[in-house]
Amino acid sequence: MSFDPKAFRRKSAAVLGLGKSGRAAARLLLRKGFKVLASDARPRRDLKTALGALAGRIALEAGGHGSRCLKAAFAVKSPGLPPRAPILERLRQARVPVFSELEVALAFCPSRELLAITGTNGKTTTTALAEEIFRAALPRGRRAVAAGNIGTPASEAAAGAGAKDIVILEVSSYQLEDSRSFHPRAAALLNITPDHMEHHGSMEAYIEAKEKVFRQQTEADFCVFNAEDPLVLKLSRAARCRRLYFGRKRPAVHAWFEGGRIRTKLPGRRGAREISFAPPKLPGAHNLDNAMAAVLLAMGWGLKAPAIQKALKAFRGVEHRLEAAGTARGVRCINDSKATNVDSTMVALKALAPGLGRRILLILGGLHKGSPYRPLRPLIESGVKGILTIGSAAAKIEEDLGGLAPILPCGDLATAVTTALQVAAAGDVLLLSPACASFDQFRDFEDRGARFKALVKAAR
Ligand code: ADP
Repeated sequence: MSFDPKAFRRKSAAVLGLGKSGRAAARLLLRKGFKVLASDARPRRDLKTALGALAGRIALEAGGHGSRCLKAAFAVKSPGLPPRAPILERLRQARVPVFSELEVALAFCPSRELLAITGTNGKTTTTALAEEIFRAALPRGRRAVAAGNIGTPASEAAAGAGAKDIVILEVSSYQLEDSRSFHPRAAALLNITPDHMEHHGSMEAYIEAKEKVFRQQTEADFCVFNAEDPLVLKLSRAARCRRLYFGRKRPAVHAWFEGGRIRTKLPGRRGAREISFAPPKLPGAHNLDNAMAAVLLAMGWGLKAPAIQKALKAFRGVEHRLEAAGTARGVRCINDSKATNVDSTMVALKALAPGLGRRILLILGGLHKGSPYRPLRPLIESGVKGILTIGSAAAKIEEDLGGLAPILPCGDLATAVTTALQVAAAGDVLLLSPACASFDQFRDFEDRGARFKALVKAAR
């Protein structure tokens, strides 16, 4: 059953979870004439601060989801609420329908021109690039807006969109898992590796969530798949829509990388024609994947090659993802604060180290997430000149990576930057790619990245 606002006119809605998306959903429903009860596990005082002026206009259930939710006509699940949260079972028993924040948002979206991008990694970068391409290619008066995980919640952006606007949604597995009717015209599934198991409970559940990005699509729609990701390739075979594949190597794909260019070949009215593009200036093969996915979304949609090329050229990447943070005392500094796990740091080292020799000074650490750092060993050995540790993960990092490169315990980021610039030689690279969460010393990874950039600037 999809969410039909008319069926619930002026009834009461229970919004479960008051993160950014939940708050946006509450605001949207209120504006559309619903009575809203918002329910969250946090204490009332914290919620009131988070809600601001909204607090006075909705009913609030703090400290957990209780029986007041069960009296609502329907409930809206925030993406962060685990799928096995007891309240969801209680709502089912009480026959209160539960809808995802994404589906509620889209029920109020006047546009059907929807694109959706999902995958374990690369969502934000691909979404931002797709937005740039669509903006460059659309005629005056038509807008392309990115929403969802990327920043502006779907409930805020979708409802504000015009009927002809193109809405490019970054959708996480959390948003997809309890969507039943989600149906974008174009979709992209970038990759699937184990992640968020604590939330989904199993790899099967995670895959099932990801699959929903194309499950409702028909022959009139298309989906872009990564041909070199075995799981994605396997899943794609069940898709009913038109399928477009990308891969770094040539065989059997619609976009590939050859001779320094992104090459595409799509069936068109006058047969298949090869069109090639200069890739965006972003480090790493992973960013080629992201670029190929965005290009196929644009080509599949029918956008023209010159506009696509213009946007690829102009795209500078997304903040905190291998972002150039300037040069201090001859040392190139790179902010990869978004690398909050070991996999991301591996991606960063693979992107930067080739051709550099052992010239990377790597800032690692923060809040330890439980995974070992040992997978980094070969990359440290071949590319890293020294490791500077910060935060509470330092001891574990030393234990896992000791003996491969000098480790300098620095405690905090300011000390790490100062120390790195003292020991560095001109031509070295200082990389913040910490492989850890930031919450022990920072508000979030954005805060950590901003602080790093300020420290580099001050050291110039
Ligand atoms: P997401 O929104 O899915 O978290 P981002 O675009 O924000 O993805 O990138 C986050 C991190 O994921 C990057 O810093 C990089 O380490 C890694 N990454 C990005 N794109 C890819 C990709 N296509 N394949 C593998 N890893 C990637």
